Amino acid sequence: MFSAIVIDKTDAGQTVAVRSLDESQLPEGDVTIDVQYSTINFKDGLAITGTSPVVRKFPMVPGIDLVGTVRESSHGDWKPGDTVVLNGWGVGEGHWGGLAQKARLKGDWLVPLPAAFTPKQAMAIGTAGYTAALCVDALVGHGVKPEQGEVLVTGATGGVGSVAVALLARAGFTVAASSGKTSEGDYLKKLGATSIIDRAELSEKGKPLQRERWAGVVDSVGSHTLANALAQTKYQGVVAACGLAQGADLPGTVMPFILRGVSLVGVDSVMAPRAPRMAAWARLARDLDPALLDVIGVETGLEGAISAASAIVAGKVRGRVIVDVNR
Ligand code: NDP
Repeated sequence: MFSAIVIDKTDAGQTVAVRSLDESQLPEGDVTIDVQYSTINFKDGLAITGTSPVVRKFPMVPGIDLVGTVRESSHGDWKPGDTVVLNGWGVGEGHWGGLAQKARLKGDWLVPLPAAFTPKQAMAIGTAGYTAALCVDALVGHGVKPEQGEVLVTGATGGVGSVAVALLARAGFTVAASSGKTSEGDYLKKLGATSIIDRAELSEKGKPLQRERWAGVVDSVGSHTLANALAQTKYQGVVAACGLAQGADLPGTVMPFILRGVSLVGVDSVMAPRAPRMAAWARLARDLDPALLDVIGVETGLEGAISAASAIVAGKVRGRVIVDVNR
């Protein structure tokens, strides 16, 4: 038997509780894992609270991330005792996920735990941090260089934002952090931000073209914030868009694209192929100071993960919530 958060749906609505499950109930897969840690990402918050239809099958064990030790494997890449990391692939949405003491998954979905990190630190990074690395890779890959000027990170105290600030600062960029939590200026400066912008400056409808300010942008917020970020991006600058914390709409114009040659690059972590995944984890291992992960992460257990889910959807979480599934 093992403990897991289970989301179920009945005629009366969605229920969520920590339950005891039998290993025979685990879904199909070629690798069985003793989970050590999982996390609460924004998407896990949406799934557990039922705010958005993230879960495609019930009952569902949520958790889009996990780190753990391989117990059984019939996959050529993995043997018992290996420590592995899972991010995405629809796990926690259509396949039982990481907010459990055991998981059974496809070996093709796994990556090795980078030597630079402990299992707990890998979950302080999680999908949010790995997505931040994909966004930084997207900016750098599209030619954005530190000497071209400031880069903007929106939703900066969030999971994606926090790690993006740290990675960009380490890569030599001057980082402006946009946040609604004005009291978190010290936190953002510790991560490497040089200036803090009140997110209210970006969150309302703005002009199609505004003063050119940013060589690049990492946006996890969407809606008016993304439209304004595009309108403020310098000639031939690049905006990496990965999130919708403000909204899924994009209420802007084509002006930044056709008059300033601005590029809008979409970033998806869930189905990203193995090569960009490994590159993103390599950037994290190289550039992310593990000591910062103690600043970014707070730890809880499976019961605490359920309340953290409501907090993240309400925009009240700073940094990352790590879940010790055996606590
Ligand atoms: P968090 O909740 O940790 O961070 C989001 C941050 O956005 C908040 O901390 C807050 O930062 C800001 N924010 C929240 N609500 C609003 C609002 N109404 N208006 C403006 N800003 C707001 O989530 P994550 O960092 O884990 O994820 C961020 C987004 O990225 C989510 O939408 C998530 O779904 C998406 N995502 C997408 C992935 C992909 O593969 N494309 C992968 C991972 C995440 P502050 O208070 O500092 O302003």
